[in-house]
Amino acid sequence: NLSDRLGNVFDRLRGRGALSETDVREAMREVRVALLEADVALPVARRFIDAVTEKAVGQDVLRSVTPGQQVVKIVHDELVEMLGGGEGAQAEDLNLAAKPPVVIMMVGLQGSGKTTTTAKLAKYIREKHGRKALMASLDVARPAAQEQLAVLGTQVDVATLPIVKGQQPVDIARRALESARLQAMDVLLLDTAGRLHVDQALMDEMKAVAGVSAPTEVLLVVDSLTGQDAVNVAQSFSGEVPLTGVVLTRMDGDARGGAALSMRHVTGKPIKFAGTGEKLDALEAFHPGRVADRILGMGDVVSLVEKAAASIKEEDAEALAKRMAKGQFDLNDLRMQLKQMQNMGGLGMLAGMMPGMKKAKAAMASSGMDDKLLVHMDAVISSMTPMERERPELMNAKRKKRVAAGAGVDVQDVNKLLKMHQEMARAMKQIRKMGGFKGLAAAFG
Ligand code: GDP
Ligand code: MG
Repeated sequence: NLSDRLGNVFDRLRGRGALSETDVREAMREVRVALLEADVALPVARRFIDAVTEKAVGQDVLRSVTPGQQVVKIVHDELVEMLGGGEGAQAEDLNLAAKPPVVIMMVGLQGSGKTTTTAKLAKYIREKHGRKALMASLDVARPAAQEQLAVLGTQVDVATLPIVKGQQPVDIARRALESARLQAMDVLLLDTAGRLHVDQALMDEMKAVAGVSAPTEVLLVVDSLTGQDAVNVAQSFSGEVPLTGVVLTRMDGDARGGAALSMRHVTGKPIKFAGTGEKLDALEAFHPGRVADRILGMGDVVSLVEKAAASIKEEDAEALAKRMAKGQFDLNDLRMQLKQMQNMGGLGMLAGMMPGMKKAKAAMASSGMDDKLLVHMDAVISSMTPMERERPELMNAKRKKRVAAGAGVDVQDVNKLLKMHQEMARAMKQIRKMGGFKGLAAAFG
């Protein structure tokens, strides 16, 4: 991990009095790599490093720890600080102190998790605060978006505003407010529309909705898997509506925490909650300390590699390393990898250790077919032509149909396999950047 890497940089420092600027700058190169690997946006990483450098230069080298450990500590503390507070810091809760109905407006890009989080929050507000909430969907852009919220409302047993087709967002907001008042609701949650990308029409809509509803909370919902993009999204929204906080979704996935740092940095607003799954109770208070660990630990790629190095046969590792050096990872390699994985204790155990694997496994688990896919995987890959195995990008709808029929599975299963291959290829690339399995094992073993 980063700590070990910095250890090497600082080994020769032992016995000196203080951390010099040159030493710190050298260490910061490693920190920069770690931050970028954790998906921290580049400008945020730069500013973070400047701040840490300033703190570290000139610090006395403590006797009890190595200089490397000391720098890691400084980096860690600064991360925690920037993410919103000390190790045991309590994430800020919702502000429900205003005159009821307290309006909470959810904003964000399409697919970021706004609607799901709206329902999670409604449930949370009832269970943790004992308050009555009404939810209203202002999403007239996406078909069935309003129905989606109504279904979730039934699931969490929270009222939703009756749907009136043809009404515009601002009018729905007005109607929702009136309805919340009439029913003496404590809280009104407004779930808004998103877009695939930030655009002015969306911003105008958000501004208009905020204008009529005077929200106490405007929560920006962001997919934690967005790395570099997070900054642009946050900047656009915070320029148009007065954000009061951030919710990071998909923290159950392989997010490496970088988006959290970027969000906090750009909006200057607290991250209030983390979404940790699709289920409606998968909402947690945000823990700065944990996320800092995640950023520095980089998903324990290293411990995976140690394990991999110990169990993959030397020749296989050699062959794989050669292909990886050339940037190759096709479906033949995937098949080999999966066999090795099973030797290493199966997918479940590995998933916790490596970012790419965790995502691949989540992708499989979300369709409830992980075991099935593993069993059928050989069949699916065998049903492909050698060319398709080498170039999975060739797999169009027609080819998928043929392969699915050949393997006796659904086209969906073929898609899952291809998706998993992509995730794996990404993970392999990450390892390659660090010098390959052998390089890593040598560096850390
Ligand atoms: P919206 O377009 O912003 O309203 O996004 P949705 O609420 O419709 O969510 C899009 C998808 O993301 C859905 O399939 C959700 O189940 C899923 N989702 C939302 N939050 C989380 C989360 O914290 N973890 C995971 N794994 N999935 C989530
Ligand atoms: Mg939605």
